[in-house]
Amino acid sequence: MATSQWGYDGPNGPAQWSKLYPIANGNNQSPIDIKTSEVKHDTSLKPISVSYNPAGAKEIINVGHSFHVTFEDDKSVLKGGPLSDSYQLVQFHFHWGSTDEYGSEHLVDGDKYAAELHIVHWNSAKYSSVADAISKPDGIAIIGVLMKVGQANSKLQKVLDAISEVKTKDKKAPFKNFDPSTLLPSSLDYYTYFGSLTHPPLHESVTWIICKEIISISKEQLAQFRSLLSSAEGEKAVPVLHNNRPPQPLKGRVVKASF
Ligand SMILES: [Zn+2]
Repeated sequence: MATSQWGYDGPNGPAQWSKLYPIANGNNQSPIDIKTSEVKHDTSLKPISVSYNPAGAKEIINVGHSFHVTFEDDKSVLKGGPLSDSYQLVQFHFHWGSTDEYGSEHLVDGDKYAAELHIVHWNSAKYSSVADAISKPDGIAIIGVLMKVGQANSKLQKVLDAISEVKTKDKKAPFKNFDPSTLLPSSLDYYTYFGSLTHPPLHESVTWIICKEIISISKEQLAQFRSLLSSAEGEKAVPVLHNNRPPQPLKGRVVKASF
């Protein structure tokens, strides 16, 4: 397995990642199965505060195993919640499965959901760039939102339509004027715990904020995620059918809840 060749299947799949990334077996890996009977309500947890500037939206990029919608704006920030610093928005992306029966990375009481949204931020109060922050214990904060099959989600449509512009690996297209807070559920009650990036390099640098409320996505919209290709232009088309890491051991960590 070459560094650039980790994937989600067979010889390159999540069970093999530790060969090149020993931290895959670390004490703070993500995702996890959130067992609600073991979650500790924490009265000191503040509400989360998101303030995103739609004008900071920049590009949609096919990264091979997924697509990222990127932002460049120092006024788009996440604060509050379990965080002591201000974290700047850098990108959002999704995880999904080959069928509607699974695809989320986080589970709740063993239940799998069809997809999961990750909105990624870096600690801009303490570090100079996302590259600098990404390996630091207080470097990254990610809001996770579980998605279940149901009604079509109109807030997703602009993103889904843009996938067709970046079908193949490394393709990019402008993506302007978008506020990712429109994707969030109406309640911002959350679970929080310390964990990692969910794919290589798997740095243990993430304060996870997982929304309690689940948002909907239709079967047709999920199929649009699976139309993304991991192959480059001119190569045999290989769709990204799934890109979710299985849950990792909690290893003594405590999941806290704001509610
Ligand atoms: Zn993710």
